[in-house]
Order: sequence, then structure tokens, then C-alpha cells
Amino acid sequence: MGLLSHGSPLSWEETKKYADHVRQHGITQFLNIYHKVKERQKDVLKWGDEVEYMLVAFDHENHKVQLVLNGEEMLDVLQGRGEKINPSHPTLWRPEYGSYMIEGTPGQPYGGTMSEFNTVEENMSERRQEASSLLTDNVSICTITSFPRLGCLGFTLPEFQPTPVEHGASKSLFFPDEAINKHPRFSTLTRNIRHRRGEKVAINVPIFKDRNTPSPFIERFANDPGNEAKAALPDHIYMDAMGFGMGNCCLQVTFQACSISEARYLYDQLATICPIVMALSAAAPFYRGYVSDIDCRWGVISASVDDRTKEERGLEPLKNDKYQISKSRYDSIDSYLSTCGEKYNDLDLTIDKEIYSQLTREGIDHLLAQHIAHLFIRDPLTLFEEKIHLDDANESDHFENIQSTNWQTMRFKPPPPNSDIGWRVEFRPMEVQLTDFENSAYVVFVVLLTRVILSYKLDFLIPLSKVDENMKAAQKRDAVREGMFYFKKDICKAGIPAVDGCSPAVNGTEDETEEYTLMSIDTIINGKVMS
Ligand code: GLU
Ligand code: MG
Repeated sequence: MGLLSHGSPLSWEETKKYADHVRQHGITQFLNIYHKVKERQKDVLKWGDEVEYMLVAFDHENHKVQLVLNGEEMLDVLQGRGEKINPSHPTLWRPEYGSYMIEGTPGQPYGGTMSEFNTVEENMSERRQEASSLLTDNVSICTITSFPRLGCLGFTLPEFQPTPVEHGASKSLFFPDEAINKHPRFSTLTRNIRHRRGEKVAINVPIFKDRNTPSPFIERFANDPGNEAKAALPDHIYMDAMGFGMGNCCLQVTFQACSISEARYLYDQLATICPIVMALSAAAPFYRGYVSDIDCRWGVISASVDDRTKEERGLEPLKNDKYQISKSRYDSIDSYLSTCGEKYNDLDLTIDKEIYSQLTREGIDHLLAQHIAHLFIRDPLTLFEEKIHLDDANESDHFENIQSTNWQTMRFKPPPPNSDIGWRVEFRPMEVQLTDFENSAYVVFVVLLTRVILSYKLDFLIPLSKVDENMKAAQKRDAVREGMFYFKKDICKAGIPAVDGCSPAVNGTEDETEEYTLMSIDTIINGKVMS
């Protein structure tokens, strides 16, 4: 889940002192990359998926299922037998937030030929076998979006007690710090988010009510002498740690575009598809042992890393902070990047004005400048002592620091410095499915969709405020069958001249409310027979 640096992590107080330093150098690093590779053209389609896994122990005799906390050791062995001895090994393994998690990707990117789409499922199954070969009989590597008993007493193996009142990273009533990956990035993120926010994160998910659910549903927490659960709402499942969100698994796809303008076009088009595919892949109805009234993880993760202060959330007048900020760092995108998208940018965009003017002074266009200046309203959440002073011409860690802790539905990714990688776009909303068959079907669908969008010059754009409404609709229980989503009526208006071009407005005064309407997922995906 982002940049992994090695070394000694700084506390929040120390990190904060360097926030402007990280932002300034991050922008210089971005400008250096941009000016070097802005004209890069004709990169071919290359793409890859990321699957996140959980290690699950089954005690059939006692009907007990727990998460096994040895992802770090497994990772060492998998890398030691794979990429470390063979650069063309077919799989790559990376750490993830939970100590019971691990992430697998293909060893090399896939290309764009049809035959390669047929190898995706096989590669996923190779990953599963490789990891499974290290496990004892009662442990499985599972692709589960949200572990139903995450945060219930004794949900880990070995078992640990949460430590709400001691010095710890989460201070959670439910989630022990031992369940966080041991790489210092993860506990530092957890601690610094809590410190920056000024209190524990608060996640409240509506409970699913059947006739046996007490109404109102109010929990009393046994181990809560200091009223640590004051943020718990009635009729909701309350959670209080980053692990409840970032400890969930997902399925992501990143692909290389042929140029920066193609990347910007695909970023926008796919942003409208995010809520649709999220509802289609919805796989997360259970939280902390309860059945919830939602079935997607999105809002839970969003709240789990919401580092905004009370002032930034608009709960107190601005005094120490610079801006009110409307969303968490983990949320849907706030602005389109292509010129076609400009007229649909209807969300209030908070930007760092100085960064915006620096970027435009140095030749970056308005849409890209505001995108970056918006990402850069955030503070760095982790900083390693050894990584403060960098070579801005050849490194990009400060840029990546801010970029990789803006966890949005889509990510626009500049090439790393001095590499042969092109401009890329990452599609991030999908929930992971139980089988490799399903996961490969989803990722291949998304990549094929990009080909169709490019070949037929499709245009899915609708106002971003409508995409945000769709994000809310997508998380409701059974949205895939019952939800209604704003979607463009005519996606193939002929005559989009090129990637940079936009669909011509009818007489220049088209009524935009006419362009989209509410549709079911069935209609969006399968179409509708016209009567
Ligand atoms: N596990 C996170 C999710 O479910 C994503 C973390 C990452 O960006 O790798 O969205
Ligand atoms: Mg990940």
C-alpha cells in the first residue's frame, strides 16, 4: 500500500516540522519528472494486477477461525525463493498493512495480446500455490475483502489483547497492535494518523437489522473504563482503528498508457466506472463479528485513515489549520484531468495556492496543476530520518510520500525517475473475490474496457458530484441488484477527434442534465432492449 522506506521513522511532531520541506521537494521532484518525460509517446500497453491475501487458520474441531500473524516471515521466504534469486520469477510478493496479510502480483507486467489475458488466472493460481506450499494443513491463504471476525476477542493466532489505554499505535479497544505489519511504516502511519487527527479514528457502519436485532442497537464495551468508545453511534457497528480499514483486502489494476494524455483520458473515463465495478464486486458485509447493512469496504477504509483535524472537518472554526477539507485521504477522486473532463469538474477543490502557481509558472496546465496542488494539501504521515535530504533530480520519495497516501479511487502515476516505465493509471475500487477465476475475470474486464474506451473513443463522463453520489449508492446492501446509478445516456457520441479532443456540445449549449440518467447495474453492463 505505498512507498516503503527503510530506517528510523519520525514521530508526528517531528514529521510535521518537515511537512513543508517534503511538499516543496516533492513538487520539485514531480516537475523534474514531468519535464523529462512529458513528451513520451507510443508506450505500449503493459499492465498488472495486485491481489491482497489473508492468512487464515481453521480449527475445525472447535469451530474457530483466526488470522495468522506471520505475513512478514512468509514474505521473506517467498521473496528469498523468488525474485531475490531469479529476476524473471513469475510472482512478486509485497507486505500489506496487516501482519496476517500479504500482497501478490505477477513477476512481469502483462502485455496487450489476447493470449496474455488467458494467462492471468494461471498466474494468480501460481501465486496461491506458491504461498500455500509454505502453510501447514490447517492454514489457508484466502482472498477475503473483510474478515468477518476482525476485531473480535481472540481473532488472531497467536491471540493478543488490545491495549486501549497504553502507549501503542492504535490504542484500539478491539485491534491489537500485534496485528499490524512489523515494518515500521505501518505502525507509524497508524500512530501519526491518530496524533494528527487529535483522537482515535471513528468508524460507524450501520448494523443489519433482522427481527432479533435489538432496536436501538447499543453496545456496551467491557474493557472501556475511560469511555474510549464515545464516538460509537447507536444502530451502528463501531470500530476505532486503522486496521479495520487498511486490514481489508482488495484487487487493483495498474496499466501503462501510451502517453500522458492517454493516461489522463483513461483516468477520467475509469473514474466514472469505479462505483459501478465496486458495486459489482461488493464483497464486504461483515464487520467486527456483525452483519452490516452495507456490502463494500470503501467507507470503512476511508474513515479508518481519516487524519483530518476537527478544524479541517469543519467541526471547529479554522485557527491552527489552513483548510477545511471535504474528504478523507482515502476517497473518490476530486477532479478530472483531461480537457473533456473540465466542464464536469463540479466539486469544490481545495488546493495549495502557492503550489498551484509554482506548477503553472513552470509550464503545467491548469487541470494537472490543480490535481497535484489538491493532493499536496495533505501532510506527510511518515518520514524516515535517513530520507529527509534527497537528490531531487534522481529521486521521487517526497513526491511519492504525498501521492501514495492519497488513496483515491483512481491514481495517476508519473514514471519513476530514470526508468523505462511510462505514464500509468491505477484502478483501485474493486473488492477481492474468493477465487482466482473471479479475480482474473474482474481484472481482465477492466483492462479490456480500457481498450474499448480507446478504440471506440467512448465518453462516460458525468459531473463528479454524480460520481460521488454513485459511490454512496454502490456501498448500500445489494446495490448490484437494487441500486440506481447516474450514467451517461449516449456513450458513443461520434466524433471525439482524439484523446485530447472532447465530444462536441450540441449548439454549444447542451443541457447537461439531459446527458445522464439513473440506471441499474444490469442496464449499464448489459444494455437495454429499446422498445
Ligand atoms: N487494502 C486497501 C484496500 O482494500 C488498499 C491498500 C493499497 O493501496 O494497496 O483498498
Ligand atoms: Mg496493496
